[in-house]
Amino acid sequence: MADPKKRLATNLAGPVFVDATCIDCATCRWMAPETFDQADGQSRVHAQPGDAEARRRALLALIACPTGSIGAGSPVGEKAAIAAARDAFPVPIDDRGVVHHCGYHAESSFGAASWFVKREAGNLLVDSPRFTAALASRLEDAGGVATLLLTHKDDVADYRRFRERFGCEVVIHRGDRGRLAEIDRVLDGEAPIELAPDLLAVPTPGHTRGSVCFLLDQTYLFGGDHVAWSDALGHIYAFRGACWFDWATLGRSMRRLAAHRFEWILPGHGWPCRFEPDRMAEEMRRCLEWIETV
Ligand code: SF4
Repeated sequence: MADPKKRLATNLAGPVFVDATCIDCATCRWMAPETFDQADGQSRVHAQPGDAEARRRALLALIACPTGSIGAGSPVGEKAAIAAARDAFPVPIDDRGVVHHCGYHAESSFGAASWFVKREAGNLLVDSPRFTAALASRLEDAGGVATLLLTHKDDVADYRRFRERFGCEVVIHRGDRGRLAEIDRVLDGEAPIELAPDLLAVPTPGHTRGSVCFLLDQTYLFGGDHVAWSDALGHIYAFRGACWFDWATLGRSMRRLAAHRFEWILPGHGWPCRFEPDRMAEEMRRCLEWIETV
């Protein structure tokens, strides 16, 4: 929990606040934009959560925050409300109840999001959250984790602890395998790889040499740090300022990715987004046009 003595001056007065330890990962801003925005390179509370749903979202962001930089005094931060937020993850992203946001972002992955997929063929974890007993217990209740898919080498966080807890298979592309220990399956090449009838690995080198997006049911695209929605730009984008391997390669990867059909982009960093498939294809074309300009 955040320290009231370190409360940022940019916060609006009231019970919810961000303190000076914020690393500006943007998690709280996409989870609860009605409460949090950015000022002076960090997040702050621009409006105190006014109704029950806004309070719930603010407290979920408090639990997800990788650095414990969000505080909530009474009446928003009552013990029971905080406990309910802690036990709420993984939170379903839509009413299909298949894909869930894990919360519990890890500072070691600069607050990247990770995603839990409940499916008959074996549950998936896409990238690794911070390991906590509360989250592990909830994942266990949901049937555990069969496979842990790593989109790239930056967002691996506590994957070894999840592997140890659930005995899951850990998958990464050879380009990002490096010295990572306890990897069970290594993907090769740039062609899409069918991991299961409902699950495709789409290698997307660029952000890193071994970046991969994973596509579930031709609906949910787990974008890692390859692709996300930009709230500031108002379109789908890639991280030009955090492209660790090669921007031209990233552009070619994006063109190949745009040929696939999907509705959701669920990234590590940046905003998730959802569009009907035809509109998503149009948005991906906009992204490709933008890439040509930067
Ligand atoms: S989630 Fe935490 S670290 Fe990330 S921007 Fe919000 S307050 Fe800062």
